[in-house]
Amino acid sequence: APGYIRAIAPYQTGKPIAEVAREMGLPESDIVKLASNENPLGASPRVLAAIENVIMELARYPDGNGFTLKTALAARHGVGLEQIVLGNGSNDVLELAARAFLMPQTSAVYSQHAFAVYPLATQVVGARGIEAPAKDFGHDPEALLAAIADDTRILFIANPNNPTGTLLDPVQLLGLIERVPENVLVVLDEAYTEYLPEEMKSDSVGWLKRFQNLIVTRTFSKAYGLAGLRVGYALASAQVASMMNRVRQPFNVNSLAQAAAVMAMQDEAFLDECLAINRAGMVQLTDGFKRLGLTYIPSYGNFVAVRVGDAAAINLSLLKQGVIVRPVANYGLPEHLRVSVGLEGENKVFLQALERALKEIK
Ligand code: PMP
Repeated sequence: APGYIRAIAPYQTGKPIAEVAREMGLPESDIVKLASNENPLGASPRVLAAIENVIMELARYPDGNGFTLKTALAARHGVGLEQIVLGNGSNDVLELAARAFLMPQTSAVYSQHAFAVYPLATQVVGARGIEAPAKDFGHDPEALLAAIADDTRILFIANPNNPTGTLLDPVQLLGLIERVPENVLVVLDEAYTEYLPEEMKSDSVGWLKRFQNLIVTRTFSKAYGLAGLRVGYALASAQVASMMNRVRQPFNVNSLAQAAAVMAMQDEAFLDECLAINRAGMVQLTDGFKRLGLTYIPSYGNFVAVRVGDAAAINLSLLKQGVIVRPVANYGLPEHLRVSVGLEGENKVFLQALERALKEIK
């Protein structure tokens, strides 16, 4: 393998329940997993019913161009079908952007503590990653702009960011995009946008009319509870979308995922319920942290990074108690653990386990 492949640090996924249960000698039903920013409510019952209909058709290939899903997305966002790129999760569309627009002798800019897929997608095509320093754990527009080099082709920004949950508000974000040179694509990753209060939501899709160099990415993995199905998408100018579609696998989004995504967008009541659970759970977790005397990074997502000190030791103690969260040392946050917001009972189990872990490790 070329040196740039050998140099890649593999993506670390949340530990699977089955593995932790086996290692810790606990029944799987006793494990609480708050490690991958998943939807604790699962998928909407209407979505599950829609999937059942497609199961009868599994011998057929999915629609490689995703006509029905794209039609629904186009109506929802007020864009043309030719502006949409479907992906096997939004992770896939991030990689499609890298494959279409990066190559050796080019670079991509992203922030310190940014989502781990940006360096990965950059390195895998032999391009150079440039990390701009963060400010208060979040994106620093000035630092990002200063980091852009002559050979930079992509600027990746997650808003809100994972694993910090930090946000550039609509004014800050627009101010940044306006100052990015036209020959640099802005990949605006809005995986957690549904969780934002209305006044913090940017008109990012509307901005596509103004900025030919903007790519907005979204996912059904988080607020819509479809992480296991793998479906996300990008919106961009027709020209940019066309380049990304050229490097896409012809059948990258399976038929169950396409049908599920169409139905998920229709079930607004379910989405509202998920958002309400997230709001309440976030308060429960952060109140718990305050009670335990811990600081945390205020988050706009469905997760929160809490500062626990010796995160590796605390994490091990949590695992022994059957609680899976995410260490974020690989994100440059060695003293934090990222915990996803769960159901009330799950959050409670986690907080109790955390309290025990802190006493043990002190
Ligand atoms: N972007 C961000 C910021 C994320 O946190 C994630 C999930 N970890 C993704 C993209 C990718 O999610 P998916 O591929 O499931 O859409």
